[in-house]
Amino acid sequence: MRISNLLLPTLREVPAEAEVISHQLLLRAGFMRKAAAGVYTLLPLAWRVVRKIEQIIREEMDRQGGQEIMMPIIQPAELWQESGRWDVYGPELFRLKDRHGRDFCLGPTHEEIITSLVKGEVNSYKQLPLLLYQIQNKYRDERRPRFGLMRGREFIMKDLYSFDRDQAGLDVSYNKMYEAYTNVFSRCGLQFRPVVADSGAIGGSDTHEFMVLAESGEATVLYCGDEKCGYAANQERAETFSAASPITNALEQLQTVATPGCRTVNEVTELLNVPPEKIIKTVIYTTDKENVAAMVRGDREINEIKLYNALDCVRLDLADEQTVQSVTGAPVGYAGPVGLSGVRLVADPEITKMVNAVCGANEKDKHLVNVNPQRDFKPDVIIDLRLVKAGEPCPHCGSELHEARGIEVGQVFKLGTKYSKALGGTFLDENGKAKPYVMGCYGIGVTRTMAAAVEQNYDDRGIIWPVQIAPYHVIVVPVSNKDQKLLQAAETIYNGLNATGVETVIDDRPERAGVKFNDADLVGYPVRVTVGSKGLANGQVELYLRRDGETVLVPLNNVVGAVKAKLRQMD
Ligand code: ATP
Ligand code: MG
Repeated sequence: MRISNLLLPTLREVPAEAEVISHQLLLRAGFMRKAAAGVYTLLPLAWRVVRKIEQIIREEMDRQGGQEIMMPIIQPAELWQESGRWDVYGPELFRLKDRHGRDFCLGPTHEEIITSLVKGEVNSYKQLPLLLYQIQNKYRDERRPRFGLMRGREFIMKDLYSFDRDQAGLDVSYNKMYEAYTNVFSRCGLQFRPVVADSGAIGGSDTHEFMVLAESGEATVLYCGDEKCGYAANQERAETFSAASPITNALEQLQTVATPGCRTVNEVTELLNVPPEKIIKTVIYTTDKENVAAMVRGDREINEIKLYNALDCVRLDLADEQTVQSVTGAPVGYAGPVGLSGVRLVADPEITKMVNAVCGANEKDKHLVNVNPQRDFKPDVIIDLRLVKAGEPCPHCGSELHEARGIEVGQVFKLGTKYSKALGGTFLDENGKAKPYVMGCYGIGVTRTMAAAVEQNYDDRGIIWPVQIAPYHVIVVPVSNKDQKLLQAAETIYNGLNATGVETVIDDRPERAGVKFNDADLVGYPVRVTVGSKGLANGQVELYLRRDGETVLVPLNNVVGAVKAKLRQMD
């Protein structure tokens, strides 16, 4: 391809709306343009990258026995009503009506469609296991579309669904996909980590997220400092163990004390001169069913995902001031579990080990001291609610946990029989007995993976594509467009490389060498071949390697061999 013909609109300025590096660089380097919030057109180079990622994914899915299909993007509401998700999915679901007024949605995921498909076609245990996948645009009306391709409203996803006879079969399919994902992200040249993830209210099911480690990641990952242990979890799910010592102090008498204007843990600790771990932090929430008082120690934070999972509810919100007033009889900042009725009391296990603690008195400007949970109140639920942080002990081995930011590029999930039961998807086993399929689902964000690759591979001059997914491998740059001999040599190299399968562009624009070099660095081709008159006079051209900035002179008669050797080293 000739740069003079290529739609590659590079920009000099950093676009104002772009907050993260991948968004900035993919716009600046001419890979994409915005059509609407969270909706982008991918230009030729981006599309080449996407197709390479897709190809790697296809090969790894097929290797595990996956069969590629293509399901409809438009999905009838009836299936979503049957699974119960039409109401639960909320405003993220793009909904539409056809000319007859029937409801449809644009697929954010395909469990309903595929279960109903398989239900019609697969009736015997002999047809299982079955792994079906597709690579397709997905639609989610995200509350905050942002960071370019990272969180779009339209994006490309690979989704695979596994159908097995039983749990043991699902375990096998899950492990296959886990291995396939590891291969995919390794082959894309990414640094990543599979982490234990939250499976939502279904609970108990295994799920892992594949996280590309990068500063801009929206997720927090906690991982064990001991590499041999290998524990790693999304913070939403991360556990630790409670090091609280057994109760030895005598229980003192409960008292009310004045704490005027003290609403926060900090204010109360200062006034009463107690450490934060002596305080029962009580936070009021509302759900679609009830009001909830959640309790953690004053030096901890509440993990709202854990709280949500503990509460069989659809919606969980922090209570507003009015609700707090009506639930506790006091303004925000004075809630406490003692004598609190009409709300569900949910306590972290650490709370039950506290002695002579401090909590709000459910009265303005008042707190209680010498609160003893085992004596003064009874939680309805005792469950891990704690947001685990770096520095706390690993739940497996006790070593210190570390924290990193991660971009979720993929997730593998054991669904079990949730959808097969809801939609009546069954097969007959050896004894002729009808059983629901045991299912798994497995997604990879293709466009998000491209953005994540940029987040991990750039410098102040631009993108540095991993060679495996680079849009082109090589750019040939004649430094002058006036010297015919030089142009001729550049053309010969360009043709020679392409003829042997090295994906090569030539910058044939009548631009200064500096402009061409800057654009090449911005776009991020792994290798640049610079053809200059001085080198030519000695029968040489220069190879410049984008990642490490190394330059080497190679003889004109072995450019193809030298380039191929360098590319092999990068692979
Ligand atoms: P997130 O928590 O980031 O919203 P998710 O857990 O809802 O993602 P899944 O349903 O697991 O996403 O989808 C599978 C994959 O699709 C994700 O791992 C991610 O790579 C990608 N993905 C999800 N939402 C988006 C989006 N809005 N834009 C781009 N890619 C996305
Ligand atoms: Mg996910």
